[in-house]
Amino acid sequence: MPTIEFRNVSKIYEGGDGLHPTDLLIGADEFVAVVGPSGSGKSTIIRLIAGLERPDTGEILIDGDVVNDIPTHARGVGMVVTTGALYSTLTAEANIGFPLRIAGIRAADRKGRVRKTASRFSVASILGRKPSEISVGERQLVATGRATIRDTPIVLFDEALTGIDPHRRESVKNELRTLHREGHTVLFATNSQDEAMAMSTRLVILEAGRIQQIAAPLDAYREPANAFVAGFLGDPGMNLLAGSVVGQDRLAIGDDELELPASRDPGPVLVGIRPEHVRIARPSTPFRRCLHARTIHVERLGAENIIHVAFGSADSGSVDFKVRSRDRNVPIQGEDIELEIETENVLLFESDTGQRITSDSR
Ligand code: ADP
Ligand code: MG
Repeated sequence: MPTIEFRNVSKIYEGGDGLHPTDLLIGADEFVAVVGPSGSGKSTIIRLIAGLERPDTGEILIDGDVVNDIPTHARGVGMVVTTGALYSTLTAEANIGFPLRIAGIRAADRKGRVRKTASRFSVASILGRKPSEISVGERQLVATGRATIRDTPIVLFDEALTGIDPHRRESVKNELRTLHREGHTVLFATNSQDEAMAMSTRLVILEAGRIQQIAAPLDAYREPANAFVAGFLGDPGMNLLAGSVVGQDRLAIGDDELELPASRDPGPVLVGIRPEHVRIARPSTPFRRCLHARTIHVERLGAENIIHVAFGSADSGSVDFKVRSRDRNVPIQGEDIELEIETENVLLFESDTGQRITSDSR
């Protein structure tokens, strides 16, 4: 099974964007989500692995061999891109069988394999149709079949779930999981953090052409390397507020002070608080765990509510601070409330660089 490695790989397009020098090692049995906002370099990474882009610097290795000069078809990769990449004049059957045709396999021998792949991806009934005659989700399934029919060890998906309606998306997701279980190395690029969190064994989190963190989903969620990752992961993401450490173990936020569980060096910090680490305070809550806030509005989502609050006076509170609540009773718009903060779960970041401050880093 293949490993994929980037050694100092960069790709900068005219205009200055792309991928800055990157080191990356993806193990044989991994299911990696390359995740980040639009324009962060996800497709560039996928295309570099597929051989559709050449790196400006560095080496790309598959299974320990440098593949910079190896063409796409000889790299052992299959690739699925966002809808539209099927050959529009060919039927679904011909599309799925296309890689076999290119590999010189005779029509009679292709048929059986195409049928098997088609039934696996639940598109056996539409094999005679052209891409314009099938749904977006079916096109994606056909494309997945085409990308995997040669049984390439590496399968790459670039935003492959985008535009598929939710019930179809589940079946494509399941096929991705199956491919991984069967021993393929799977990489998928997505701008959806929840898709990435839910599906992968490891996240490669990108912003502006630079990897911000490589970690298992829950590790990145609980111990984000920096404020970008903290805010990007989660729905809603981590709340980030300006504050400062005062004394040894107190954290000033606006007019309130929280008690920190461990002593930190004094100075300005960015304070990270997850929406689920906050609740409406009770009368017995120690005031060193409380922030005074005002309710802006409440999103009632059924299973939970997202309460949006502001701190301080009406004109100073620009931060949209979110609280996840399952309480039936939620505050009304404009109501003043006391929030209890789980101070043991508060994270601190350097206010200038955004790097997370760990107990031994400062
Ligand atoms: P993502 O897939 O994360 O949305 P891309 O990898 O496609 O991002 O692009 C990364 C950055 O490089 C973006 O700013 C994009 O506009 C730029 N870019 C991508 N391809 C080209 C190209 N062929 N020419 C110039 N700029 C490009
Ligand atoms: Mg892209």
